[in-house]
Amino acid sequence: MSEPKLVYSSKINKIRSFALILIFVGFLFMYGGILLKKIEWLMLILFALGVLAIVFSLVVYVWIGTLSLRSVPVVCPNCNKPTKMLGRVDACMHCKQPLTLDKDLEGLDFDEKYNSKRYQKKK
Ligand SMILES: [Zn+2]
Repeated sequence: MSEPKLVYSSKINKIRSFALILIFVGFLFMYGGILLKKIEWLMLILFALGVLAIVFSLVVYVWIGTLSLRSVPVVCPNCNKPTKMLGRVDACMHCKQPLTLDKDLEGLDFDEKYNSKRYQKKK
């Protein structure tokens, strides 16, 4: 049995697509509200949910901004493009090459667990 091959995308990219999905969800809720405008209470609920989703996605965007400030800019050894790293292990934004800042982890398989506090304590 072969292990499923996982493609890791950069954390910042992941959060960014999450925020984008939230905006779409927000607009979908509002669109649903417009379609159901005959049922006033339902329209109001859908609009409220839509506004909430969009506000939340803006919060996520601000969060990405602060995360970007804390991230470490590196040049990817694989594609030679500048990318940003969050935590001890992350993937290149352009080619998904797993990257690490920790010399001890070099050459090991990419694993999100290296970022967890528990793993760092165990070491
Ligand atoms: Zn790269």
